[in-house]
Amino acid sequence: MKQRVVITGAAGFIGSHLAEALLDRGYSVIGIDNLLTGDTANISHLQNRDFLFIKHDVTNYIYIDGPVDFVLHWASPASPIDYLELPIPTLKVGALGTHKALGLAKAKGARFVLASTSEVYGDPLEHPQKETYWGNVNPVGPRGVYDEAKRFAEAMTMAYHRYHGVDTKIVRIFNTYGPRMRVNDGRAVPAFMSQALRNEDVTVFGDGTQTRSFTYIADLVDGIVQLMLSNENDPVNIGNPREMTIKEIAETIIRMTRSKSRIVYKPLPTDDPKQRKPDITRARTLLNWQPRVELEEGLVKTIEYFRTKVSPS
Ligand code: UDP
Repeated sequence: MKQRVVITGAAGFIGSHLAEALLDRGYSVIGIDNLLTGDTANISHLQNRDFLFIKHDVTNYIYIDGPVDFVLHWASPASPIDYLELPIPTLKVGALGTHKALGLAKAKGARFVLASTSEVYGDPLEHPQKETYWGNVNPVGPRGVYDEAKRFAEAMTMAYHRYHGVDTKIVRIFNTYGPRMRVNDGRAVPAFMSQALRNEDVTVFGDGTQTRSFTYIADLVDGIVQLMLSNENDPVNIGNPREMTIKEIAETIIRMTRSKSRIVYKPLPTDDPKQRKPDITRARTLLNWQPRVELEEGLVKTIEYFRTKVSPS
């Protein structure tokens, strides 16, 4: 008998790659998405495989017939511009959606994996960020709706683990890029790529000295699957520790797309973290995971995808 995995947010960027990777590993996959920020185009190529799509908002009760071995809770707006426009759905899916997904895992005796985020560290005062760091989050700022939803989701997940004995995992995902990010996603890599491919100004927020560490999607998915199969219940960072400034990533994308774009500077969004870099000692030692895809290699694959979506002006 094949093992069955339920993925919420399966039509999203990471959810769709995760669905595909699990199908490739021989699992039967049920994908749920309300298509608020997801897109069926991301999963249309899976329709002839052992994949069932259910359009549903997971803040409401989730009905699944038959056995379920894993519940992976990926549903959430995840780009800063999305959660600024969708503050209440972001809070609801992190809170009510996590509760429903955990309830499903408990009812089915399934393992549960929560998609958490480096945003739980806020604008971090500890650098690089270890899982033991409690974070520096502004609960009432515009990013608070995402950060606090994910922090609540982590607390709820640990409560189901401790109180109900559900076998839960928490992955803290750092900035990830790759094919299937939306052209108008608003995050740095897709924004810079679509601007560079159109030879438009590349919009760097602030002075561009803030840092991020970018993980290629295939590396992230490997880390998630390894965590899903592990015995670990405490949070694990999955991310690439190669840290760079936002100006550097903008310049790299302009160079690699051979673009005529110039960098222009725009105001820094409120509470934009100044630095971000994962400490991946836990992933290395407990999961034997580390990133393998070099930035340039991942960017080449992502640029190829964006070329099919963006027409040059
Ligand atoms: N950023 C930027 N220009 C853009 C989009 C983002 O300079 O068009 C900056 C943003 O202010 C942040 C960094 O790039 O400092 C990464 O932003 P992103 O939205 O990708 O995700 P975050 O890491 O902030 O959640």
